[in-house]
Amino acid sequence: MLAEREAAKYPFLKVGLNLLEALDLQLDDLAGPTYTKMVDRAKDRVIQAILKGEVTAELADPQTELLSYPIAVMFVSLVGDQFLNRRYALSEAVRAYNLLQQEYEDKLIQIASEEFNWEIRKEPESLDGVMHNLKMIFNDYLRVAAGFHEAKWKLVNRKMENGWVSLTGVEAARLLQVEVEKWVNERVATPSNFPLPRPLEIRLDEIRKVFAENRSKLSGSSLPDEVINEAFPPCINYCLEGLLAGRRASHMERFALTSFLVNIGMPIDQMVSFYTDVTDFDESLTRYQIEHIAGLKGNRTKYTPPTCSTLRTHGVCRNPDSTCKKISHPLSYYRRKVWVIQKRAEEKAAREAQEAEPLNKTTEE
Ligand code: SF4
Repeated sequence: MLAEREAAKYPFLKVGLNLLEALDLQLDDLAGPTYTKMVDRAKDRVIQAILKGEVTAELADPQTELLSYPIAVMFVSLVGDQFLNRRYALSEAVRAYNLLQQEYEDKLIQIASEEFNWEIRKEPESLDGVMHNLKMIFNDYLRVAAGFHEAKWKLVNRKMENGWVSLTGVEAARLLQVEVEKWVNERVATPSNFPLPRPLEIRLDEIRKVFAENRSKLSGSSLPDEVINEAFPPCINYCLEGLLAGRRASHMERFALTSFLVNIGMPIDQMVSFYTDVTDFDESLTRYQIEHIAGLKGNRTKYTPPTCSTLRTHGVCRNPDSTCKKISHPLSYYRRKVWVIQKRAEEKAAREAQEAEPLNKTTEE
């Protein structure tokens, strides 16, 4: 059935919601063997979001894919954690983006206008040799693209004529991703608390366990108090080594390094002495610049380091390693590496304690 297939791809479509409503499923129905596949797929959706930050599209069995979505939403709202809500919403939105990119423009227009009320139309034109087949009214564009920081999304960098902004199909899909993320987030945002039939409870426990095991390395809440140099990403090492070697650093290199060190908690005095010891920077000017980036002076905004994509554009992304493939921000690199270093240290301590145990016993005896 075409509607079912479409709804399996895009669970936010009204047609899918109508199909689900017509089924009128109750919790006890889901606990039965008929729905085992759907419940398992729902659990997988959430676990994929936790572990990979992206849900896959399993479209070979559209019914399972469609039904698993509301069950996954139920699981997420029962966990009742804002961080998981956001991660799940983003992961579902990335899934939608991957599918939307493969659609013809007519389909994108239909979804954007019918589901999200955009004013959008087809009007092909070539800009710098790239086909821009769509035009979107500028106030819709501004609203949806407001959270993007890359220069190419700024309105001043877009071709706009009579209030219509030109877009490629992939750009429209990327903007739709924002709408889908918001849509999913609204649906998981209210924490729920009700008893589940045992088969569903077992899946929810599995999700809770995976989430608990991975939360600290995924969220931004676990930066240690002390600075751990071994966890620096390659780009920051590159900036630091350049500074130590007396190489003239670009503005972006200095900003990336300083904002990174500020955010991982290096004390201001240590940074000032560090800069002035290795260069001939003026001490008071250096202190002012660092304090400005730390949000202690000027407009009181604490700056975060640029994203990997910005650093790449400015030639500061150097020698990326295997961890770099899993992240999009130098601070995420640091968090991951810190987590790995701490986990190794804990494992080593546990091993040593275990090895020492027989000796202790012998001594006591
Ligand atoms: S991928 Fe990101 S973290 Fe890794 S070196 Fe490049 S900019 Fe730094």
